[in-house]
Amino acid sequence: MVTFEHAEIRKIKEYAKEENIPIMQEEGIEFLTTFIVKHQIKNILEIGTAIAYSAIEMALVNSEIHITTVERDEKRYLEAVKNVKKLGLEQQITLIFKDALDMRLKEKYDLIFLDAAKGQNIKFFENFENNLKEEGYIITDNMNFHGYVEKDIESIKSKNLRSLVRKIKDYHEFLKQNENYTVEFYPQGDGIAVAKKK
Ligand code: SAH
Ligand code: MG
Repeated sequence: MVTFEHAEIRKIKEYAKEENIPIMQEEGIEFLTTFIVKHQIKNILEIGTAIAYSAIEMALVNSEIHITTVERDEKRYLEAVKNVKKLGLEQQITLIFKDALDMRLKEKYDLIFLDAAKGQNIKFFENFENNLKEEGYIITDNMNFHGYVEKDIESIKSKNLRSLVRKIKDYHEFLKQNENYTVEFYPQGDGIAVAKKK
């Protein structure tokens, strides 16, 4: 597996670290890009651009790939615009500045990648599943949420965190019980779910 240690990408990763932006972990990115190659994915919808790190890594897999990606935070969106330009990927990446829950799309995608607010995944799933092609995939990041999902919920001290972990567990169940999809969970990075439309 070739990893693109592009100087600009290194800078994007450093910026994310400095600004505490939760970009995908290396292992997760490797999983995602390998998946894209294996399944010959061409059209991707990403929810949660942040500063376009994951979108850029996906676009660099090959030049036939197109990504539409949505971000609601203006500062991050503007940083994403800059980063996409720096890498010359404007033709491959379409950046949308919007709250993903306030938008409806018409297009159909081979892959929908959910990597936005972790407690809202059921809503994102339901809002965009009609945009999935037949036999397409919905991939969700942060299914383990830094190991918290494995823990006993009552042992988590923060009320907000407990509530978030509960929502992630609910989303696990939602995926497992969804009869329209075959779902597999992978431990890579922060935990990844792959749901394939039946
Ligand atoms: N995919 C990125 C990381 C995304 S971090 C990468 O790996 O490089 C999650 C992002 O989702 C945050 O920047 C946050 O602002 C955004 N987000 C959360 N809820 C959202 C929503 N409802 N609509 C659009 N963006 C959202
Ligand atoms: Mg993530």
